[in-house]
Amino acid sequence: MIPFNKPCTIGNELDYIKDAISLGKLCGNGKYTNKCQSFFEEKYGFKKCLLTTSCTDALEMCAILLDIQAGDEVIMPSYTFVSTSNAFVLRGAKIVFADSESNNPNMDCNEIEKLITPRTKCIVVVHYAGASCDMEKVAEIAKKHNIFLVEDAAQAVDNYYISKTGNKIPLGSIGNLAAFSFHETKNIICGEGGMLVVNDENFVKRSEIIWEKGTNRSAYFRGEIDKYGWVDVGSSFLMSELTAAYLWAQLESIAKIQTRRLEVWNLYNSLLKDVQSKYGCTLQTIPSHSTNNAHAFYMICNSTEERGGLIKYLKENDAQLVFHYLSLHKSAFYSDKHDGRELPNADRYSDCLVRLPIYYDITNEQVQKIAEKINSFYADYTK
Ligand SMILES: *Cc1c(COP(=O)(O)O)cnc(C)c1O
Repeated sequence: MIPFNKPCTIGNELDYIKDAISLGKLCGNGKYTNKCQSFFEEKYGFKKCLLTTSCTDALEMCAILLDIQAGDEVIMPSYTFVSTSNAFVLRGAKIVFADSESNNPNMDCNEIEKLITPRTKCIVVVHYAGASCDMEKVAEIAKKHNIFLVEDAAQAVDNYYISKTGNKIPLGSIGNLAAFSFHETKNIICGEGGMLVVNDENFVKRSEIIWEKGTNRSAYFRGEIDKYGWVDVGSSFLMSELTAAYLWAQLESIAKIQTRRLEVWNLYNSLLKDVQSKYGCTLQTIPSHSTNNAHAFYMICNSTEERGGLIKYLKENDAQLVFHYLSLHKSAFYSDKHDGRELPNADRYSDCLVRLPIYYDITNEQVQKIAEKINSFYADYTK
């Protein structure tokens, strides 16, 4: 069986974990945490990075930092992972869901402005499959209305927005805050893990306090104060050094990992052209304002039945395809809190999008076999 995902070990993971053990400090904020955080700060120009136990945690930190209060409104896409929303709901926010674009699961940025009210505190964009949202447009709206911008960049490591003037701007560097994931299903992994990015100077100091359980412990260890104590709310958000050691090995080889994923992506894209031209199943497209980090390879089937048949056929032929994201506005938890607006594009991705296996260790032969089986499914299905 070709699994949907297989977490990769790229090289030095075990050596660095051994080193972390030999240093006698396994809790967070040690050598490997600092190496990883500095890597991101230097390579992508993020102002401040804090490793967390998950992207979910990093998003919860965003909601605390923005001081989200009961009744505050947060605009985000409905077609996203539950954590994007949950982090803000935990603080009492009302979620105002926006529809996706017709040709891309990302939030339709032309929809945002009419959803803004005096209670709107923040816009959360999600770079679905790593592909950039229209960041110049959304940043302009946020600025005009004086509301915060958060990037859920869980899937967007090492990817870029291409500006109107042709500059490549790293995703995660544009919002006031951003959150990344290193969950085993993402490009760069450490099992469970994430990172908060603080680009807005106003949040730098407090982010460290929230990270350290509401204490000023980090400032104490830098020698800036002579004792530390409880100064704010916070929680246990730090990533362990064992996990950060694994992550560092991955970051050292980020170019190798991304290159291979892109090869796999391009191979699928070329082998599945017929499925699109002959059978009307839409292949993933990368918006012209985005680079491609090959986080996912997906197709959009013509119907839910067709998708179900495709997944079943591939399973019978030893490959695991998956679909995901029941639109959050239709979820058991939130449907009665949603304002009733129809979000047809989000529904369509919920009903028809299917993801193919993509990971570092997948072989070209496996990709060819999957593509061949998809082609033969469609040849039969449309007879
Ligand atoms: C994976 C993912 C998350 C959650 O990441 P964790 O590290 O598992 O908490 C949040 N948002 C999106 C869009 C994701 O894809």
